[in-house]
Amino acid sequence: MSRKVIVLGETRDSSLRNVSFEAVAAAKTVAEGGEVVGVVFGEAVAEAGKELIHYGADRVIVVENEQLKQYSSDGYTQALMAVIDQENPEGIILGHTSLGKDLAPRVAGKLGSGLISDAIAVEEAGGNIVFTRPIYSGKAFEKRIVTEGIVFATIRPNNIDPLEHDASRSGDVQSLSVDIKDLRTVIKEVLRKATEGVDLSEAKVIVAGGRGVKSAEGFEPLKELADVLGGAVGASRGACDADYCDYALQIGQTGKVVTPDLYIACGISGAIQHLAGMSNSKVIVAINKDPEANIFKVADYGIVGDLFEVVPLLTEEIKALLV
Ligand code: FAD
Repeated sequence: MSRKVIVLGETRDSSLRNVSFEAVAAAKTVAEGGEVVGVVFGEAVAEAGKELIHYGADRVIVVENEQLKQYSSDGYTQALMAVIDQENPEGIILGHTSLGKDLAPRVAGKLGSGLISDAIAVEEAGGNIVFTRPIYSGKAFEKRIVTEGIVFATIRPNNIDPLEHDASRSGDVQSLSVDIKDLRTVIKEVLRKATEGVDLSEAKVIVAGGRGVKSAEGFEPLKELADVLGGAVGASRGACDADYCDYALQIGQTGKVVTPDLYIACGISGAIQHLAGMSNSKVIVAINKDPEANIFKVADYGIVGDLFEVVPLLTEEIKALLV
């Protein structure tokens, strides 16, 4: 059954986040040959909209409004509902990001539809669109189908491959004017904390530190390794609680859930709550001086040793390889 599916392109500083292209790929599967319509909100985002077409969307709707420059629950809900009213989609796909986690349930509530959240895969099987999502903190996976109504889902970043970029693809970029009103919250200014450089939730490489780094300065060798690998720095709650780093870096059950290609855990014991946030990483390297540390049970490669010796050595070796 072919469907019209809308996909929200998520922008940061007027550029699209990678998860938007992954969402287009998921939408293509859900559409089963139907139309995929990209949607972008903000100010001066028409160029960003075209990128959705290059990644597979058939056309794009842009809602430009200064009230949508920063995300607000009310503003984005009104804008997305206006697009849905105009388009009557049979499918909606958003990224399972902070924005998607806030927006999708609101819109699903307004539509009275179901919502499959945090999907890591989507496929056509036996005449159904089947979503796979982790449950019990990633210890098991369930498969879900939608039996009636809109196929509405959020997808976890870094799990579904985007389609190949094709700059020759073309499609309409249409403008929709939406009167955004009655905002209960107005964002005046955004102060970014530890989000310089690579975004943790979309990073392909993460070098994470735990209580074993021993101090805020102890994170420096990890930052250097992350830099040479083009990655981001993350942390266990142990390190955050000890004030070695900001909570924005926390990975785990009560922190961010990440799925990088490479996760290097340094001085992290591997508590179940930490594993909940990173055990689906594609390759896990653990550096710990305790050979019995739990982290080695999920690691693909383990190095038993002092992280202050091992991490600088790794950085030097990788630098030498990159010359
Ligand atoms: P530790 O357990 O103290 O481990 C430190 C490790 O460093 C040890 O294995 C040690 O051998 C090693 N080490 C020490 N020095 C060195 C060295 N020089 N070189 C190499 N290795 C060294 N935790 C999270 O991470 N994320 C969460 O989201 C989270 N949510 C939680 C939610 C709840 C409700 C609860 C109860 C707990 C949660 N926790 C979470 C906390 C979790 O249970 C652990 O306490 C925490 O993950 C431990 O952090 P750690 O591994 O850095 O510290």
